Parts: sequence; C-alpha cells; structure tokens
Amino acid sequence: MALIVQKFGGTSVGTVERIEAVADKIIGFRERGDDIVVVVSAMSGETNRLTALAKDIMEYPTPREMDVLLSTGEQVTIALLSMALEKRGFGARSFTGGQVKILTCETHTKARIREIDGSRIHAQLEQGNVVVVAGFQGVDEHGSITTLGRGGSDTTAVALAAALDADECQIYTDVKGVYTTDPRVVEDAKLLSSITFEEMLELASLGAKVLQIRAVEFAGKYKVPLRVLSSFEEGPGTLISLEGEEKMEDPTIAGIAFERDEAKLTMAGVPDVPGVAYQVIGPVSAAGIEVDVIVQNAAEDGTNDITFTVKRSESDRAKKILDGLLPSLKAREVLLDKKIGKVSVVGVGMRSHAGVASKTFKALADENINIQIITTSEIKISVVIEEKYLELAVRALHSAFDLGDPEYGKEEDA
Ligand code: ADP
Ligand code: ASP
Ligand code: MG
Repeated sequence: MALIVQKFGGTSVGTVERIEAVADKIIGFRERGDDIVVVVSAMSGETNRLTALAKDIMEYPTPREMDVLLSTGEQVTIALLSMALEKRGFGARSFTGGQVKILTCETHTKARIREIDGSRIHAQLEQGNVVVVAGFQGVDEHGSITTLGRGGSDTTAVALAAALDADECQIYTDVKGVYTTDPRVVEDAKLLSSITFEEMLELASLGAKVLQIRAVEFAGKYKVPLRVLSSFEEGPGTLISLEGEEKMEDPTIAGIAFERDEAKLTMAGVPDVPGVAYQVIGPVSAAGIEVDVIVQNAAEDGTNDITFTVKRSESDRAKKILDGLLPSLKAREVLLDKKIGKVSVVGVGMRSHAGVASKTFKALADENINIQIITTSEIKISVVIEEKYLELAVRALHSAFDLGDPEYGKEEDA
C-alpha cells in the first residue's frame, strides 16, 4: 500500500462535473488500497476573479487582506471535493492550510513554507479517510493566513509529500505532462517521458508554468518522486528524474520556455563609478520587486546604462523608484518598455555542445527578430525581445532545435 499525494489544478476542478470526475479518479486509487492525500487549487479563473475584485478597491491591495481573500478559492474546492467523495461512500476530510497546519513565513502573497505538521493528516488516513487539503495557503506564526504565490498549490503538494514521506507526488493538470514547450503555443510540442530535475528547475524559473518553481525546488531538496500527468486522459505523464537515476544520452536541448508579462527598465547615463549598480538595484529589491535579467553596457564618456527586467505588473512601481533616484545618481533618464518578453532555450546537454548559442541567434535572425538582451548560464540561453514576436520566436527555436514530435498528427488526438 502506497501513500500518494495527488494535486488537481484549477481546470481539473473548474466545474462541479469536473470535481465529480476527480472524485471518481481518486476512488480508483483508494480501491487499489492506496492512502490518498489530495491537494486542490481554486476553480479555474477564481483566483483571477478575486484579484480583480481587490484591485477594484485599491491598486495595491493590503497583502494581508489579499491573502484572506485569495485563500477562499481553495476553501471552496476542498469542501466540494470532499462532498463528492462522501456521496460516493468514501470517507473524506477537508483541511485548510491553517488547519493542517502548514506554517509559513510572514511574507504575504509569496510566503514560503517552513514546517508542516503531518499529525492530523496521518490520523485521518489511519481512519481510512481521504484527506483533502487546500493548496496555495498556509498560516504564519501569528495565525494570519498566507498564500504561496501564483501556482502555489504545486508547492503545497510537493511539500506535503515530503513532510508525509509519500511514495509519489502526482500533479494532475490540463495537459499530458511536461512538453518541450507550451503545447498551447507550439502544436507539435513533444511530451517528455522524463526530464531531469535540473532542467525542470530552469524551465519553471524561466516561465513554464506547468510546475511552480518552488515545487521543483522542494522535490529536489527532499527527493520527492514527482510526476506531472493529465486529469483528463490516461497516460504515464512526465517523471521529474532526480540525480543518480538512469541517464540515457541527454538530448542537447530539453525545451523552450518563455515569459510574456515582463518589462524592461533602463537607468540611462549613470556615472561609471563603483557602487552605482547597487544604488540602482538595491532600492528596487528592497521594495520587494523581483529583478530578473540585469545588464550594464560598456562605459562611454564616463557613463553607463543599467538595464533590468521585472514583472510587468511591478514595472510602474519600479519606475517610480528609479525616478526618485534620478537626481541623486545624476543619471540622464529612466526608460520603461512594457512590451517585451523573454524566451529561453534550456538543456543540460548544451554544456557539452558548442553551437547552441549561434543556432539560437540564427533562428531568431532568420525571422528578423531583434534581440535586446542576451543572458546565458551553463544550461540555458535567454533572450529578451519585443513581446509581439514572442510566439514566433518560440516556434522558430522549437523547430531549429528539432524538438517537434515526429508522431504529431499521426495518432488520433482528442
Ligand atoms: P494547473 O491549473 O493545473 O496548475 P497551469 O495552468 O498552472 O495548470 O499549468 C499548466 C499549463 O502550463 C498548461 O496548460 C500549459 O499551457 C502550460 N505550459 C507551459 N509550458 C509548458 C510545458 N513545457 N509543458 C507543459 N505545459 C506547459
Ligand atoms: N489558485 C492559485 C492560482 O491560481 C494557486 C494554484 O492554482 O496553484 O495561482
Ligand atoms: Mg498551476
């Protein structure tokens, strides 16, 4: 008998009918004798709807109250799913994050999990119940509700699997697993039977929202066997393989990730003296704004331009901070471009293959796409480009690296 943690995302619990279908699926596992802990997201669109309500009241809603609001979405689905299980004659017990309890830090809207108390869950499992836990939420030391950032139910599931020492963590979603890129953008994207943990970490951090990055980090740290599968179709999905597992010849490139909602800020004409980068980036980070790609161009006439990217939703706030720094830094001007996106080519195999960079640049050049910023690491190349070319760039790179599924279009697809 195994202990399995199963997470069902927003689309999978998006209607009452789908919640009932999830209940049927869980029952299949119960009947096999497995112990099941289920983590659910809010119904699809609900977190966005709640966010919009808050924004109607204030532009930057109070983070603490935002968490009280957002956590309600998942409270709805745990109750409905538990009812659906009970209707089928199976014992089920729902818990909010605070009830479990999932203790987090105090950083509202992007809290990190510190500790999970597994005792209530174990007690329920011993009584033969399915335990249904609200994803995406926890509670801080003061008893305030916290949330884990968008996509955070993945992290709840993996963290629970680690805390409960589960045999597997299964992430059920609306695609068949992890693909070479978002199958909604590239039709012939190939489903991967497995992907290294390292590559998954990069893809997640570079925009592939199929798994929240924190979930992947947890899986790596606590060696949680993690699989992404479809809620709607049978199939083995994608295994996130940890180090030391079977290593076939690594393909050079695992996949292409992209991020749409980015913005680029430039502090132009800052004096070329020590400490300037810190004076520009420091206050932005201190305001809790996540800074992504940072570049500084070569000095000319004793001045530099410092350019960096942030989430588009945070770009106005970042610009205000830079505007405030303008006089003291004696910089020329602050520029904001909200119409950019980032595309990244990821693969552990690129370590040993020269030519990945030139192939990337050629594929973009062939489509006449101008590259604004380039950053690289051992296993990825990212480029910042104009947003309107984002999907074109993803498709061009996907085909330049021959990532397409040769079987695409041959099998009958639902
Ligand atoms: P859930 O609500 O189940 O958590 P998400 O919408 O958060 O689902 O994540 C699943 C989505 O991630 C897919 O529908 C797909 O559009 C997108 N996605 C982006 N990149 C990838 C990728 N490389 N492989 C699979 N899906 C991806
Ligand atoms: N409901 C939250 C969101 O939409 C958490 C999740 O679905 O993982 O981001
Ligand atoms: Mg998700």
